[in-house]
Amino acid sequence: MRERILIVEDSRTQAEALRFLLEEHGFEVVVAISGEAALEALRLGAPVEIVVSDIVMPGMSGYDLCRTLKGEQGASAPPVILLTTLSDPTDIVRGLECGADNYVTKPYLPEQLLQRIGQVLETRRLRREARTPGSTDVQFMGSTFSISSGKEQILDMLLSSFEELVRASDALKKSRAEMAVLHTRAEDRAERLSRLQGVTEALSRARTSAEVASVVVTNARDVFGADAGFAALLAPTGDALETVASVGYSDALVARWQRIPLDAALPITEAVRTSEVCVFGSASELAERFSDMEPAAHQAVLAAPFVVGGTTLGAWTISFRRARGFEPVDREFFLTLTRQCAQALDRARLFEAERQARAEAEEANRVKAQFLASMSHDLRTPLNAIGGYVELMELGIRGPVTDAQHTDLQRIKRNQQFLLALINDVLNFAKLEAGSVVYASEKVSISSLLRDLEAMVKPQMDAKRVGYGWSPCGESIYVRGDEEKIQQVLTNVAGNALKFTPAEGAVEVSCVVEGDWVKLRIQDSGIGIAADKLEAIFDPFIQVQSGELAGDGVGIGLGLAISRELVRAMGGDLSVESVVDGGSTFTVTLPGFRENPPAASGG
Ligand code: ADP
Repeated sequence: MRERILIVEDSRTQAEALRFLLEEHGFEVVVAISGEAALEALRLGAPVEIVVSDIVMPGMSGYDLCRTLKGEQGASAPPVILLTTLSDPTDIVRGLECGADNYVTKPYLPEQLLQRIGQVLETRRLRREARTPGSTDVQFMGSTFSISSGKEQILDMLLSSFEELVRASDALKKSRAEMAVLHTRAEDRAERLSRLQGVTEALSRARTSAEVASVVVTNARDVFGADAGFAALLAPTGDALETVASVGYSDALVARWQRIPLDAALPITEAVRTSEVCVFGSASELAERFSDMEPAAHQAVLAAPFVVGGTTLGAWTISFRRARGFEPVDREFFLTLTRQCAQALDRARLFEAERQARAEAEEANRVKAQFLASMSHDLRTPLNAIGGYVELMELGIRGPVTDAQHTDLQRIKRNQQFLLALINDVLNFAKLEAGSVVYASEKVSISSLLRDLEAMVKPQMDAKRVGYGWSPCGESIYVRGDEEKIQQVLTNVAGNALKFTPAEGAVEVSCVVEGDWVKLRIQDSGIGIAADKLEAIFDPFIQVQSGELAGDGVGIGLGLAISRELVRAMGGDLSVESVVDGGSTFTVTLPGFRENPPAASGG
């Protein structure tokens, strides 16, 4: 015959869950949804072998139900199991006080509840005859409780409580251990995060591939507690890896693996071949797969390829002398380091390529400057000799000169001078380009500059019947720069003015001070320059106007390029305004100042 259980539970859902469980285990179940309803049914003599009652219910509580039932029916009352949350330590004593037979903590495990029911039914069978009547007063947590339960019942309750305690303490221990694991993990994670930050910083400073690789390999070894590690880049030939950084390996091993053929049986080549992170945690696995590894030297290995934008740049690996497992977080951290390193390697690669290109360009420039310097020296010497001999002949030292010979000698002289000027221009420009020009920074008087300029250009202006004038802008105006180079610029610009101004035209040189700047203007009434050529004339080898006006002073288009470069190097600028057939005005701007002469003393 099936044993009948009365469930007293105000929550219908919980009552149904209990019914389902108990019926499934062969009990017959009756449900009462309140303490009152349960008492009523029991008073009417409902045949019940055991009562399982909730404690907290609206109206009659589980304690009251139990107390009343035990009070009214004494030893013949069915045993009562209370369902308690154990939120109050007096729950158990209260249970004893009201005569309950046992309790189960909520939320209950089904096996636990079934075990308690079985236990209570068994005890009841055993002590059916020997029930001790009467009650004892006990003190518990500051209150007095009158216990009416029998000895066995009390023992039962206490053992159950003990069992409960052991279980709770086990659970506590387990959760403590779990907490400790979590704590270590959190600490580990924090350490790795701060490490990662350090790595990112160090990588941003690393310039070369070797520096980048060394940062990552060293950090990875420290974080993982590895014994060794190395990184290698794919050789330009694509069939081997070339080691760029390593830690923890013997010199012999490093020397041996300086170049690693891609078909070598090693974890690092495996990573390149598979394009994946490779994780090996056991020595036997390593020995079996990688015949080229030092036997038993390392028992666990992590390896990964450096891939950027689908291109494999190389790979790296760290290894351990002792076998060990790798958790997903280890793998993830290794991957993060790999990604960071790959990106930094890519940057370093570009940086190195750029540096190489710059070094090559600088070297080419140096060779060019050297070549031009020696070439112009070799050309200047014979040209000067030609000039010297022409002068000798012109002076009639070698005998009388006919008119026709005189004209020829003039032509030789002009061409000799042109070639000399041209060589000087090329040489100057080469020097500027090579950055080998040294500038003096001196206080230069404008008046003396303009006086010297007049001495140099006036005779040629007169010869071509071009008017020349200059207005002094006061003795007290100075510029700061290299006097010789400023003079070179002024001579060049004034020379152009003469070259591109027809006879009867005019060239005017003036000067203004604007704030911290002094502007020297060379204005001509010549042929002018088309608006779309105004910038181009400053580029090397650009000539807008040659032909008959350029006449005897033909150049090669370097004069203005050199002049602008010189003025800019002294902190100033060279600009032009011009109208075709309306003349041109070139302005040389230089940092300048006015210095009043010391006031006359005495008086
Ligand atoms: P070049 O040695 O050929 O004169 P520059 O660099 O000095 O070379 O001048 C470049 C070109 O600028 C000249 O060929 C000419 O066409 C134009 N140019 C320079 N100065 C003047 C000027 N004062 N008037 C008209 N054109 C000029």
